[in-house]
Amino acid sequence: MLCLGMPYPVRVKVVEKDLSKDKAWGISYDDLRLIEIHDKQCESERLDTLIHELLHLMRPSWREKEVIRVANYLTRHLWAQGYRRRPPSGSSGSRGGFR
Ligand SMILES: [Zn+2]
Repeated sequence: MLCLGMPYPVRVKVVEKDLSKDKAWGISYDDLRLIEIHDKQCESERLDTLIHELLHLMRPSWREKEVIRVANYLTRHLWAQGYRRRPPSGSSGSRGGFR
């Protein structure tokens, strides 16, 4: 499926789970269009990990160093602009639990 005219995976499932055994903050599975994110990260680290794994899906030819550099850059600017995850629906709307 095309996204903005580019062959990027549009639908990507993101699952949070304990990745301690994998010793990873995140893992992307291109064939499954699945991203697993370690569930014990603060919110800014989670954002960085999500961007990082999305870049792996978008740009599989990029070296790890380039993915890290771009993810860190985007995370820093998005975070500074106030971008945060909404609390899950049905919650009290409190930001509690978000670091
Ligand atoms: Zn990576």
